[in-house]
Amino acid sequence: MATAAEELFTAYNLGADAQAFVAKPGKMLIGAEWVDAQSGKTLDVIDPASETVLTTVPAGDKNDIDAAVRAARAAFEGPWSSLPPTVRELMLFRVGDLIEKHAEEFAQLDSLDNGKSATVAQQVDVGMAIAFTRYMAGWATKIEGKTIDVSLPFPDVQGFAYTRREPVGVVGAIVPWNFPLIMAVWKIIPALAAGCTVVLKPAEETSLSALRLGELILEAGIPPGVVNIVTGYGEDAGAALASHTGINKIAFTGSTEVGKLIGKSAMENMTRVSLELGGKSPMIVLEDADVDRVVEGLSMGIWFNHGQVCTAGSRLYVQKNKFDAVVEKMASAAGAMKLGPGLDPTTQMGPLVSKKQQERVCGYIESGLAEGATAVTGGGKPEGKGYFVSPTVLTNTREDMKVVQEEIFGPVLVASPFSDEEEAVRLANATRYGLAASIWSNDLSKVQRLIPRIKAGTVWVNTHNILDAALPFGGYKQSGIGREMGRDAVTMYTESKSVLMFV
Ligand code: NAP
Ligand code: MG
Repeated sequence: MATAAEELFTAYNLGADAQAFVAKPGKMLIGAEWVDAQSGKTLDVIDPASETVLTTVPAGDKNDIDAAVRAARAAFEGPWSSLPPTVRELMLFRVGDLIEKHAEEFAQLDSLDNGKSATVAQQVDVGMAIAFTRYMAGWATKIEGKTIDVSLPFPDVQGFAYTRREPVGVVGAIVPWNFPLIMAVWKIIPALAAGCTVVLKPAEETSLSALRLGELILEAGIPPGVVNIVTGYGEDAGAALASHTGINKIAFTGSTEVGKLIGKSAMENMTRVSLELGGKSPMIVLEDADVDRVVEGLSMGIWFNHGQVCTAGSRLYVQKNKFDAVVEKMASAAGAMKLGPGLDPTTQMGPLVSKKQQERVCGYIESGLAEGATAVTGGGKPEGKGYFVSPTVLTNTREDMKVVQEEIFGPVLVASPFSDEEEAVRLANATRYGLAASIWSNDLSKVQRLIPRIKAGTVWVNTHNILDAALPFGGYKQSGIGREMGRDAVTMYTESKSVLMFV
């Protein structure tokens, strides 16, 4: 008899490769071995659209982390950090090719695990993962120091001084569930390009694509131990990794709350640390904007990935004369969206990742309504199975409301009008976050005046949520510390060494 998971795979028309991967016992990667947790404990992998348990993966804890860190250290001291850069580059290019070869499978695994649309995931998530891998592979051969003129106070000697950039060592990487494959690649590939080795802890909700990536990393010829993947809970495996004295750097993406804990344990050991944290990014629409043209982009800004995006444009500020028209069009487009499983190609918005997330998001909507906000569309969860939340637009909000100040991380937009540029800047900057912002206008001088005044790591103009492998990405204020992407990502995984020689 078919199990519930098998019946689901048939209903979803799931590809043979993804089925075969999910059907295998879930194991994690330590050194060359695919293993269970030493404790034997597991955690469930759940399809958020049907609430069906698909399989299990190991629930690793500090003992597994310790073994993984030792494997990563041995691989770092072993051949990896001293391989010629061209060899590392070639191996990473092979990883990019293998992700491309398995693009459909990756999209389906992330869709099953996270609830996101498989069609969108193949184009956006997997497409970005491939482009990013190739871009970062190229950095392996472009890491450079400088020669520096020094002024020595000794007349008889000359000095020759230069800097080297050396790999920082063993990297502990902890990532969230919203873009499972992309998050794993963002951490692993630049670290490897720089000559580091990695222990990755994926989010408890979404381990599958990271584990599949681990298989392909070995297939690409990257030596065992260079990448280790320990699945498990944040409080156990994650905390053990962040506080481990055997790692040299921790690279974290996740919430500001957990980021602060990670920062504290990093300071304890003086571990290098970078934090990509939450956001509450504003979308600012100026009075000249063409309503019909901007609504589609604004919709992508908030509804993409069901609002579970760190840069989601979750606060909409529209200049007074256009406010009603923009909100009405945003709300009617949102109200018409078809909710369904991510593997159904007609779905426009899938479920949220977990019951916990569904309850959290609905809790925020209720708090907004209780404090006097109006739901122009949506307002809660639809009937039936799955962790769905209807896309919700709230107006009549006040600045001090939780729905305006806190990151909801779901399909909820708060919208309010502003009178002039001064007010727009004040509102845009009035949260503890500073990850991103977008300005919608063709009035270039206004736009250029606004850009330096917005406290955010990324400002988009007439678009939102677009990232590129070459463009540094990270947060101001409580949205994080450090920049990923571009040269900055590689710099982050290296130490600078100054050399001074008397000649
Ligand atoms: P989260 O709760 O902070 O979790 C992120 C990761 O940290 C998960 O792997 C989690 O494990 C782990 N973790 C939890 N507690 C830990 C602890 N005490 N010590 C060490 N690790 C711990 O965030 P999330 O709910 O998964 O993801 C949503 C958040 O990520 C949002 O705030 C979003 O803005 C942010 N995010 C930021 C970016 C960016 O680039 N700025 C990108 C994407 C997402 P578990 O899975 O077991 O909880
Ligand atoms: Mg979590």
